[in-house]
Amino acid sequence: MRKITNLFKSTNVKLAFRTINTIQQQLARQPHKEKNPSGIYKIICNTCKKAYVGQSGKAISTRHKEHINYIRTNNPQSAYATHILQNRHEYGPSNETVQLLKACNKGSHMNCWEAMFIQRYHRRGELITEQQLYENNPLFELIQETDTETCNTVTVQKQSSQQTHQQRKGHIT
Ligand SMILES: [Zn+2]
Repeated sequence: MRKITNLFKSTNVKLAFRTINTIQQQLARQPHKEKNPSGIYKIICNTCKKAYVGQSGKAISTRHKEHINYIRTNNPQSAYATHILQNRHEYGPSNETVQLLKACNKGSHMNCWEAMFIQRYHRRGELITEQQLYENNPLFELIQETDTETCNTVTVQKQSSQQTHQQRKGHIT
């Protein structure tokens, strides 16, 4: 608790610990059975290995194709396409460069997850500079990385992603 209080010492934020619970509930895991789900994803640049974090209400593989199309048609419609085009970097195949970070459906949950992942990758210095940032939210720092990135190594094309996910969770707990 003290650690949390210290986070807000120098701000005007008045602590209400119930808020944290609500956010945790907001971000609670939702079961997703789809093989190619919508949600939060990252695409890495094949040259500098920095990441773009985005959200998609449709299948992530579909969204990835759209980014690639922007690049092929020299259309800087997304921050990812802009990064590749302006720096003359290279994109890669989806099974090597696209990762599902969090399966979720479109709505406020998705916006919240996207902001959290953008903040996390920005803090790690792993984001492309073209990525648009949200205002820093100190509450996101309270979310354990192990709670949210269990899907980290599961690519969008793996058929058995759910199964792998479950097995990995079993090992941790
Ligand atoms: Zn790059």
